[in-house]
Amino acid sequence: MFKKILIANRGEIACRVAATARRMGIQTVAVYSDADAQAKHVAACDEAVHIGGSAPKDSYLRWENILAAAKATGAQAVHPGYGFLSENEDFANACAAAGVVFIGPPASAIQAMGLKAESKRLMDAAGVPLVPGYHGANQDPALLHSEADGMGYPVLIKASAGGGGKGMRVVEKSEDFAAALASCQREAINSFGSDAVLVEKYVQRPRHIEIQVFADTQGNCVYLFERDCSVQRRHQKVLEEAPAPGMTPELRRAMGEVAVAAARAVNYVGAGTVEFIVEQPQGYGHPEAMKFYFMEMNTRLQVEHPVTEAITGLDLVEWQLRVASGEPLPLKQEQLVLTGHAIEARICAENPDNNFLPATGTLQVYRKPGHTAFERAADGPTHGVRVDDGVREGDAISPFYDSMVAKLIVHGATREQALARLDAALAQTRIVGLTTNVQFLRRVARSDSFAKGRLDTALIQREADVLFNQEPVGLALAAAADVAQTLTDERAAEGADPFSKTDGWRLHTEFARRFAFEFHGETVQATLSYLHDGALRLSVGEGDRAVSGLLAFEPTATGDGLVVSYAGQRSTVQVVRRGEVGHVFTPAGATQITSVDLLAHAGDGQGEGGRLTAPMPGKVVSFAVQAGDVVTKGQPLAVMEAMKMEHTIAAPADGTVAELMFAPGDQVTEGAELLKLTLG
Ligand code: ADP
Ligand code: ADP
Ligand code: MG
Repeated sequence: MFKKILIANRGEIACRVAATARRMGIQTVAVYSDADAQAKHVAACDEAVHIGGSAPKDSYLRWENILAAAKATGAQAVHPGYGFLSENEDFANACAAAGVVFIGPPASAIQAMGLKAESKRLMDAAGVPLVPGYHGANQDPALLHSEADGMGYPVLIKASAGGGGKGMRVVEKSEDFAAALASCQREAINSFGSDAVLVEKYVQRPRHIEIQVFADTQGNCVYLFERDCSVQRRHQKVLEEAPAPGMTPELRRAMGEVAVAAARAVNYVGAGTVEFIVEQPQGYGHPEAMKFYFMEMNTRLQVEHPVTEAITGLDLVEWQLRVASGEPLPLKQEQLVLTGHAIEARICAENPDNNFLPATGTLQVYRKPGHTAFERAADGPTHGVRVDDGVREGDAISPFYDSMVAKLIVHGATREQALARLDAALAQTRIVGLTTNVQFLRRVARSDSFAKGRLDTALIQREADVLFNQEPVGLALAAAADVAQTLTDERAAEGADPFSKTDGWRLHTEFARRFAFEFHGETVQATLSYLHDGALRLSVGEGDRAVSGLLAFEPTATGDGLVVSYAGQRSTVQVVRRGEVGHVFTPAGATQITSVDLLAHAGDGQGEGGRLTAPMPGKVVSFAVQAGDVVTKGQPLAVMEAMKMEHTIAAPADGTVAELMFAPGDQVTEGAELLKLTLG
């Protein structure tokens, strides 16, 4: 076994690999960029080497620097994690040439599976079922278009070199094909350096089911069952689970054996995932009718590998290290056992209600659910909650890397139990300072489709009514919680027992105190009356939406929150104040309520006029308009790229473009003015 390895990655996966290495007594070397000098993964390793600037191309993708760091520190092997260099055959070759073990498959297998079109030709020859489509080398747009017409719509155009959900366009009808092809090719050349595409039939009611495979250098190859990753947004995974709901032993074996055949066809070694798209021609719950087709093979450890670890009780990073050091696979196919049900939720810095726009910010408050790590027990995996992350409270989520903050993994004896654990764990995940998808994930997990296992990749669109723009906490409770927190803070500041019924200020006879809040863009007034008997009455809002009732509160047993009773409702809440904003966490979900100082805000409300600003730091990809153009509300004006995604900036109102402030390719900071618009 290795004595020392270098981890050529950052964030949660670098921490994840370091944890196993530590458990196995292997020393670890971290690498880090400027932005990551204080990162958690650096602290998680025994040594750390600075490899360059914050942008990935200046650090985590610079394999010369990484190899030099391995040499300098005496690391015998490099673990690439996922993303970055994990599927870069040049890096795998360079490692071999430098006498450093690449913890992954041989470069030839990476290359064979690296391009979607070529890998499909190879898989076809190996008898692996493929989605009907065109995977040829001829890229003449007219030919691609006629191939699509021949297949019938909808079709999917995919960048052959693509990954991470990027470089894909669904085309609904022939008229849209040419424009979709051009935009797919543009994204492909920018992101992957090649504009080669393939076109395939867009499978109806598709499910994404993938098989974890593992092979060693002695010719053994096994499958570690499946993961269902059908819940996606922008072709990227949101929730992953194992086993796949409705899976039968027969289908599992059939898919597993095809996946092993696919791996064997490229002389695979190490951890890999064969992704299948599964058609459900008879609707949900008819596994006998499901048809599976090879989609691609990811020649690395996958983000969602923990769900497989949960149901098998294995440590896949340990297996990777054993295989890379020449040991045989620890178990044979017949010895692998699937226990219980596991679900992973990807917690990301993004705004689901704004088309999943990535967010940057600082984790001012970062509370994780009480968790019990999956310890390996003799009788299989323990059930519990696991959090894999690469950040700590106080850390920033920068625009340089992807938006995943943490992964929450739950395991239960049954899917129902796992779902209940997931719901509770998400409710206990408290993040302030950063917009995240935590509440959204909770709603997805609770949605009818997910709860009943009616899965396909359109689940999020189908359930949109209950997933987006939801407010789990009403104004009355939010305001009551905020007022209760204010009073608690004031009493504590006065040195009074904050919950005593007889402290001084309460002896003023009856009087009223006014509060103003902003809640969902509306300004609301609230009045707190101190009654003769020491009780409090709170009135919130006006007109028919007004609520009035007695307010009482006390600290929770654990002291980190308040039990608030208001207008007949009793809730355990936690209010975290950041400036004027109160972040209110309740069992039903979380919300924000802003305390408004009416005098301080007099004169506001002029709006931003014709200023159009960047919603986040990133790069200007293109402008769709020029100075002088007349535009209408909602018309696309510019495309920005940030955190691996493209975002269209649309006109907020009708007007005329006065001036473009940047050129395509320019890097912009959050709030930078992109263009001037004369309204009207
Ligand atoms: P990536 O390399 O970006 O992961 P994939 O080829 O794995 O690209 O596809 C990503 C996702 O796109 C899949 O998980 C699935 O949801 C969807 N998808 C891919 N191919 C098809 C298809 N032929 N029909 C329907 N959906 C598809
Ligand atoms: P998975 O099926 O494991 O989610 P993806 O193709 O979505 O596979 O990519 C895996 C992960 O690799 C992503 O979630 C992302 O964190 C990381 N990744 C992929 N490409 C890059 C890149 N160019 N730079 C940084 N990270 C990347
Ligand atoms: Mg994929």
